[in-house]
Amino acid sequence: MNPPQEQATLTGSPATGTAPTIKIYVGGRWVDSSARTTGEVRNPADNTLLARVPMGGADDVDRAVKAALAAFPGWRATPPVNRVRPMFKFRELLEKHFDDIARTVTKEHGKTLDESRSSVRRAVDNVEVACGIPSLMQGLGLEDIATGIDSQFFRQPLGVFAAITPFNFPAMVPMWFLPHAIACGNTFIVKPSERVPLSQVKMFELLHEAGFPEGVVNLVHGAKDAVDAILDHPGIAGVSFVGSSPVAHYVYKRGAEKGKRVQALGGAKNFVVVMPDADMDRAAAISTESCFGCAGERCLANSVVLAVGDAHAKIKDKLVEQAKKLRVGDGADSGVTMGPLITKQHREKVLGYIEQGIKEGAKLVLDGRAYKDAKHPEGYYLGPSIFDDVTPDMVIGKEEIFGPVLCVMKAKDFDEAVEIVRKHELGNATSIFTTSGKWAREYRYRVEPSMLGVNIGVAAPMAYFPFGGAKGSFYGDLKAHGRDGIEFYTDKKVVISRWF
Ligand code: NAD
Repeated sequence: MNPPQEQATLTGSPATGTAPTIKIYVGGRWVDSSARTTGEVRNPADNTLLARVPMGGADDVDRAVKAALAAFPGWRATPPVNRVRPMFKFRELLEKHFDDIARTVTKEHGKTLDESRSSVRRAVDNVEVACGIPSLMQGLGLEDIATGIDSQFFRQPLGVFAAITPFNFPAMVPMWFLPHAIACGNTFIVKPSERVPLSQVKMFELLHEAGFPEGVVNLVHGAKDAVDAILDHPGIAGVSFVGSSPVAHYVYKRGAEKGKRVQALGGAKNFVVVMPDADMDRAAAISTESCFGCAGERCLANSVVLAVGDAHAKIKDKLVEQAKKLRVGDGADSGVTMGPLITKQHREKVLGYIEQGIKEGAKLVLDGRAYKDAKHPEGYYLGPSIFDDVTPDMVIGKEEIFGPVLCVMKAKDFDEAVEIVRKHELGNATSIFTTSGKWAREYRYRVEPSMLGVNIGVAAPMAYFPFGGAKGSFYGDLKAHGRDGIEFYTDKKVVISRWF
């Protein structure tokens, strides 16, 4: 276990007050960033200034890469069973500080405590899977590929990897990558979203306490400059990215040009197809939860209900009834089921989409724009909104809104529903609600999104299955998690031997 250090411990301060500038974690130490500018980290529930985040760039990234490169030979030579010992310790610490991490997620992101807890649980799942690396990382061999000649392959780590992550799951998303990568013997750098860096500060305090050797894990902060520095740095072997599709594409292109392995998970516009034979009460309740959970800021949110035939008449009022049950407010308060949006600007952007939908002729059957939070008038809240009569060519039918707005579309039959889903340029996730195995099978067979729910609202990523989208929602070959994660973070060395 590493000795405790002075950390960037954070408490809130009034909107107008000062706040501590958080540090970066490089080579086993919390140190000041060399950034000249900082950004604000605010609690979206009440606009409180929580901290300032250094907007680092090439210098911070270079320091982290140097530390990670220096740590690599020793870490790579550490037997896998020994590499996972601090990982087990990290898991224990995550359990011990579980609620504290969840509260930090809620504080900087705004989602409800239950939602934060679920996301921290998923982070722990990934650490648990990585603890199995001595088995997962094994290669294969075959005797006598020719008489007296044997062949085998070993999986070997590649060096330094980095993760660049989005704002919507501040504790969880970096843990889709870091545990697998370092358990395989690589060293690692995390660059979290500049909007929510505090959850990773907590996670890195625990990684420090777990006793990983200096330089094995590193944390830098910033936005585009830090990302570009990661993509261009010759010392980095590969990058795992999660965020919006335009940035995913950019990261994939620029990283690959610089000879790196890249997996880039992008944005989403997810459809839930509701067949006329579905259990409409369940379909309405589950779809509403899927769309409005995390205030719609979820890449797996089913934000379009695509109702087939008379399913439309059967489900539309039920969706509104369900959405009206949501209790909007500070995610830290018990009983609240939908928190605020991430920033004032993002709230404005979502409002812009609602205006756009009205202009385009969609019918606003539930209007969440007027919601005012009595307790925190400064928070970035919106109530749930539902549009009916949305068509695939409308902006709100095409673009990812990433807010609490549900679009309802009609399809005359199953084939038309499949066509609408297939035509969309994104393909992260989708669901179908039906009581027929035939429709479920047919849907699975014909549409492209890689995560598919059958009577499930969020086909969620599980640490031991591959995760990532299709079409414009994913750039790369190997997905995150499970065996794909192990493949991404290792190379295969084939050895053919003959002994005379
Ligand atoms: P974003 O693309 O704005 O930011 C993601 C990361 O890229 C951040 O670390 C940010 O600092 C960096 N970045 C932003 N703009 C950049 C630029 N121009 N050049 C280089 N780097 C840049 O995404 P976000 O708003 O933080 O997150 C929401 C998006 O992430 C949504 O589109 C959502 O669907 C997607 N997302 C996808 C998944 C998935 O599994 N596919 C999971 C979570 C979120």
